[in-house]
Amino acid sequence: MELTNLSISAIQDLLTRRQASAEEVACAHLDAIQQKDAAVRAYLAVAGERAIEQARAMDRRLAAGEPLGPLAGVPMAVKDVILIRGLPNTCASKMLENFTAPYSATAVERLEQAGAIVLGKTNCDEFAMGSSTENSAFFPTRNPHDLARVPGGSSGGSAAAVAARMATVALGSDTGGSIRQPAMFCGVVGMMGTYGRVSRYGLVAFASSLDHIGPFARSVRDVARVLSVLAGGDPLDSTSAVVPVPDYEATLEGSVQGFKVGVPEEYFKGLSPEIGDNIQKGIDVLKTLGCEIVSIRLPHTEYAIACYYIICTAEASSNLARYDGARYGFRAGEYSGLRDMYKKTRDRGFGAEVKRRIMLGTYVLSSGYYDAYYLKAQKVRALIARDFVEAFDEVDAIVTPTSPIPPFKLGERVDDPLQMYLADIYTVTASLAGIPGISVPCGKTRGHPPLPVGMQILTRHFDEARLLQLAYAFEKAGGFEISA
Ligand code: GLN
Repeated sequence: MELTNLSISAIQDLLTRRQASAEEVACAHLDAIQQKDAAVRAYLAVAGERAIEQARAMDRRLAAGEPLGPLAGVPMAVKDVILIRGLPNTCASKMLENFTAPYSATAVERLEQAGAIVLGKTNCDEFAMGSSTENSAFFPTRNPHDLARVPGGSSGGSAAAVAARMATVALGSDTGGSIRQPAMFCGVVGMMGTYGRVSRYGLVAFASSLDHIGPFARSVRDVARVLSVLAGGDPLDSTSAVVPVPDYEATLEGSVQGFKVGVPEEYFKGLSPEIGDNIQKGIDVLKTLGCEIVSIRLPHTEYAIACYYIICTAEASSNLARYDGARYGFRAGEYSGLRDMYKKTRDRGFGAEVKRRIMLGTYVLSSGYYDAYYLKAQKVRALIARDFVEAFDEVDAIVTPTSPIPPFKLGERVDDPLQMYLADIYTVTASLAGIPGISVPCGKTRGHPPLPVGMQILTRHFDEARLLQLAYAFEKAGGFEISA
């Protein structure tokens, strides 16, 4: 039996029927990591002993007849910006190369409480800034579908681990697309809930008004299961929303007949034709399910990239001020005086993209430019959010491509940050509006090897149940194979 290719419920079946132990399931994944990760490089750190201990504890509970949690024995990977007590947390940065997390994120605690087994910490762009995982200070991760290509980013390691069967589920963070875009690039499902739906306590901050934690899995059902465990208010995160959490899995099978689905005109300009063709086929699948397809306008879309890159850099420049060599993380070895220590620490500790963002962010917040850039971006953000509110007066959901381009080759875009930023166009809008979004597989490109294409589905604030219902129906009807 292939223990690394199972859904969450299949793992649970095996455990309850005693056909496999949690330890066997965990070890099968650790073996897969040993075999495949030299090529893919999804993991920055593997917590083998810890995982086996957790699995054995689970097996003891099983043997004692204790009830199983909803994620019992499920092997999980965690992006290296989400803290797990006692494990390294580098944020793929030299700045935190030797940092060990002193406490665990609420998201991780909830998943572990539900029985998930942590396999290790996954690679990402440094401090989650990027779209290809090439900004990791340590090494790039490769796309399991084609090792010459990037897995997307910034949560590329988490997406690649799930795609390559080196984890059943994974956690990522999404500030402007970092779960949805790598989910598309690796041919898996990735979801960002409504802003505030999932606690960010223990997530290293990048841009606090945009940051989310969310799940990756190989099916919509598994994503729904994980989100049900993750979601809900947390006294440790004042920005988490105290809104009741439905059982997302329970409503998955509902009919989507009669759903009004909006297709925004602005999202079909300038995208790769292969992506466009696949999304069109995806829209046809929705029609066969009885959805009514409506053309809609989101008129402020063209300002979204500029708006996002002003706001996220402004917030990053403030959030990353804490890495000063005095409190934690890296400190430059030789310096003369405090100021020199700060300068050398930050010069050597941060990579090029992080420095670029700190400089951009400092600039847009500086006196004289604040009104022209930061304040204006906040106003544009409100207009983008209003576009969605108005669209949702008309439709139940919106579908778009997840990314305008398929997974690209390593090195192809690193020297052109603007090109890299522009490709975030379809994901940053939902981030700015604070609405939930998911990327589901929606076909493949025609090249050799074929590369995954993803469709993004968006709904109103806190309408994750409907979003998952539509994604589930689409996944079932579309039958888009995802095997890396
Ligand atoms: N690619 C976007 C950026 O570089 C999104 C990153 C993210 O969501 N963490 O900012």
